Order: sequence, then C-alpha cells, then structure tokens
Amino acid sequence: MFEYAPAPESRDVVDIRPSYGLFIDGEFVDGTGKPFKTVNPASEEVLAEVATASPDDVDRAVRAARKAFGGWSALPGAERAKYLFRIARIIQERSRELAVLESLDNGKPIRESRDVDLPLVAAHFFYYAGWADKLGYAGYGPDPRPLGVAGQVIPWNFPLLMLAWKIAPALACGNTVVLKPAETTPLTALLFAEICGQAGLPPGVVNIVTGAGETGAAVVNHPDVDKVAFTGSTEVGRQIARAVAGSGKKATLELGGKAANIVFEDAALDQAVEGIVNGIFFNQGHVCCAGSRLLVQESIGAELLDALKRRLGTLRLGDPLDKNTDIGAINSAAQLAKIRELSDLGEAEGAERWSPSCALPDKGFWFPPTIFTGVAQSHRIAREEVFGPVLSVLTFRTPAEAVEKANNTPFGLSAGVWTEKGSRILWMASKLRAGVVWANTFNRFDPTSPFGGYKESGYGREGGRHGLEAYLDV
Ligand code: NDP
Repeated sequence: MFEYAPAPESRDVVDIRPSYGLFIDGEFVDGTGKPFKTVNPASEEVLAEVATASPDDVDRAVRAARKAFGGWSALPGAERAKYLFRIARIIQERSRELAVLESLDNGKPIRESRDVDLPLVAAHFFYYAGWADKLGYAGYGPDPRPLGVAGQVIPWNFPLLMLAWKIAPALACGNTVVLKPAETTPLTALLFAEICGQAGLPPGVVNIVTGAGETGAAVVNHPDVDKVAFTGSTEVGRQIARAVAGSGKKATLELGGKAANIVFEDAALDQAVEGIVNGIFFNQGHVCCAGSRLLVQESIGAELLDALKRRLGTLRLGDPLDKNTDIGAINSAAQLAKIRELSDLGEAEGAERWSPSCALPDKGFWFPPTIFTGVAQSHRIAREEVFGPVLSVLTFRTPAEAVEKANNTPFGLSAGVWTEKGSRILWMASKLRAGVVWANTFNRFDPTSPFGGYKESGYGREGGRHGLEAYLDV
C-alpha cells in the first residue's frame, strides 16, 4: 500500500460554541432539562454542552410551530420556494463548515461528509424548493393542503442529510416543523437553525429541540402534532407506531435493514468489489440500507473473496478529518459495544471472522472492517442489523435461491444485484421485497428517487414526488 502524508482538513472553518440552547420560535433559548455533552467519537473530546428539551420545552416548540403554520401555509408556493432556495444556497456556501462539523460530531470521514452528505443535503433543498409552487401538478389533486405541524425525530448516522430529507418536503408543502436530532450528533442541526435565521425564515417555521429519547417521545406524543416522521431503529419505530395508533396523526417510519448485495458469476468483478465495499464500509456501515449480507454465486465465491480481501487491505482507517481516510470512527461507545457483541456472537455461532491488519487509534471508538464467511441464514449476524463495518458472506447457486435467501429477512429496505444481464436485473428486481433495488451499483441516493421499506423496515416513502404525499392531506 502507498503511504500518504497526512492531509487533514482544517477545523478552523467551524466555530463551535461552548454551549447550545434550543431553537424555538426563531431564537436560541435555554432548555429546562439537564444539559448533555456531545463528544467527538474519534478522540472522545467534548465538543459542546447541549440543552435538553423537557416536555414543557417541546410544548413551547409545538406552539411556536402551530402559530407559524397559519402564515407559512398561506404563502404562495413560489414564496415558500424562495426561502428553500435560499437555504439550499447558504448550505452550499457554508458546506465546508458544515462538512467539518459533521465529521467532528459524527466521526464520518471528511471525504464522505464533503462529497456525499453535503451535496445531497443541498440537492434535497433545491429539489423540494422546485416542487413548492407545483404541488397542484404532483398528482394529489389541484390544491393539496399541508397537514400542519410535523414532529420529526432523526438518527445519528446522517445527521444533516436526514434533517434535509425531513425538513425540505415538509416546508415545501406548507407544514411547520419541530425536529429532534440524535443525542450524539446535534451540532449540524443547530448550525442549520442558524442558517434558517440567515435565510430570514419566519420564526417558528423550523424549531430544533435537542435531547435524548424522552425528548423524541415528547415530540411524537404531543397532541398538537399532526404528522410524525421518524428514522431510526425498528424497536423505537414500533413504540412510535403504537403511540400514534388511533391518534389521527399521519406517520412515516424509516427503520432498519439487512440488505442483500447479490453478485452473479457474470458480473464485472472489480466493479462488484467496489460496490460491496461501498455497500457496507461507507459511513462505517452505519447505514440503514447497507449491503450487510453479501450473496455471491458459489462458482465465483473464492475469487471474489480474494479480491475483496485485497481491496480491504487498502482501506485507510483513522482521523475522520484526514482527506485520505476511508473509514472513520464508530459514532458512540454504545454503538461500538453493540458491534462488538454481535461480531463476537458471529464467531461463537461458528462463522469465520476476518479483518485486514489495521492499527486502531488509542483514543476514540473504532472497529476494523470485518468479513464473516461460512455464515448460515440462521446466524444472528445474518439476521440482525449490526449497523457497523461488518459483512456477512453467504453463497447461492441459482437465481431462485438468491431471491429466496435475499428475502429471508424481517426487513425489506434495499438490495443490490450485480450481473451483465439486463433481463436478470429486471427479473430479480420484480422478485426482491425491498424498497430500493440497485443494479450494478449500491448506496446511490438522489432526491428525485423515492426511498423506503417493506416489512420491519417501516412504511411511507421519502424523496421524489412520492415524498410529498407524506406531508399533504391526501
Ligand atoms: P434509535 O432508534 O433509538 O434513535 C433514533 C432517534 O430516535 C434518536 O433521535 C433517538 O434519540 C430517538 N428516540 C429514542 N427513543 C425514542 C422514543 N421512545 N420516542 C421517540 N424518539 C426516540 O436508534 P439508536 O441510536 O439507539 O440506535 C440503535 C440501533 O438502531 C442501531 O444499532 C441500529 O441498529 C439502529 N439504527 C438504525 C437506523 C436506521 O437508519 N435504520 C438509524 C439509527 C439506528 P437519542 O439519539 O437521543 O436516543
């Protein structure tokens, strides 16, 4: 492997305040809950102290959103679009600052936050800005109405991107928002709040309440919230589904996944190897649609595995702010413990574990890229979401067997198919019970494309024209 000189991105572009309040009604205010600290997972350095929103604070935020709803929803779509375009442009202008802050708070490599997260965040705002004055042509009747106040709870794996997925369509449709970022990654949402101010967004249209699960529960359960949007674990998704049942609230749930990445013997192997790496090692595997189960046709199993191991030997793990880094830090000590536990279980259940030799930094939360071979469908590493850089390899002989194994999961969020044959791609796509099926690629996102799951992966679609439906009274 070539040795590269360190190429760290400067931290000087971000100005992290020692403490942050809640963003309610266009202002930063104190929270009445006990503040918490957010740390850099690559160094365990405390970045800032952040307010916790108590149920009373959440109530204040919902009331501010309700008050703002009248004016915001009455604006002509073209006027709402101006704000969204302005936000999108400010995100582009401040993208370096946002990318560095995201990498500091989340642990993801700057290469990804800079080249994937931030461009997609801006693209989402541009895309939904374009819809704001065309809602009457979206297929939901001539004058579709917004729902009201949206309560949104997002996870820590793509903090700013999940915020964009939630806020951009909500505002385009004329709703107002109370959003709770994850406890371990609140900082970019708070910088986004500042950007709302910079864009002149009317007070109360976007409110950001920070805190842990109880704050999320207070948002979801608030009686004056009309729509709940959640991305996170299936377990919490279930609780939310129970909580909103019978309340009249509309809900979309984007939950876990255990995607099959299926490689046929006629696939372009080098491309497939890149796709497998991108599928499971992108964002440290903290990806709900990660290709965490590799299904490889038996005839090319050994060859593909050799190539994959060679490629893993070239991945660089380390400082997320170094532009050469491929694999950053695991987001939290709790997530690291979960990855370790499931990986140890994989070995105990009889699968064979392999990682390239790679030194882990002394401080922070780290896990090496890991492959398990000899995995049976019944193993927990083949069934449960590890949400880390851990790949389970299974084999198949026929397309029918590949479909059977791919669908043998409680989830149904995404899948990948690698083959030269177009007809096989179409046949597989029609058989796979997954919301997204990628062909000869993986983990590709586009604001125009709907995203969502079957079964325990949740319900509702985000992105594209379909994503509007969740925020309209249709
Ligand atoms: P959670 O589902 O607990 O967290 C997602 C968001 O929901 C966070 O903002 C969280 O707050 C909030 N939350 C937690 N409890 C409640 C509640 N009762 N009501 C409303 N909101 C709540 O995921 P974790 O961060 O705990 O991760 C656990 C596992 O979930 C991971 O190991 C992974 O397997 C899976 N996961 C899947 C994701 C996906 O996109 N599919 C994303 C994240 C996790 P807080 O962060 O403060 O706890």
